Amino acid sequence: MIAICRHCSKSKVNRPRGLCWSCYYTPGVKELYPSTSKYARRGVGNFTGNAPLPGAPTTAAPGTPEKLAVLEQRAKMKQAIFHPADARYEGDSRPLEFLKHKTANVA
Ligand SMILES: [Zn+2]
Repeated sequence: MIAICRHCSKSKVNRPRGLCWSCYYTPGVKELYPSTSKYARRGVGNFTGNAPLPGAPTTAAPGTPEKLAVLEQRAKMKQAIFHPADARYEGDSRPLEFLKHKTANVA
């Protein structure tokens, strides 16, 4: 499938935002088309850098479909993509330890 430029509908897309080279570099054109990347900065409401931490770390190991689903969910919730206590390998007890301590502190 060949993507066609969203602006001129003539050229092949070879720049970000679904634009062709000449449209992307035409002043004012790329501002009309928001970034298509869900991880990119989005102006007002942008959450890169100061997003709240997710409510809980995940036990899913990096690179697994489960982990990817968690990351996607966090991005949707405008939360930080990574939690410091996320599992770093299959069977990592870090997230469980984190939750144990968190519960202990609350109680
Ligand atoms: Zn174009």
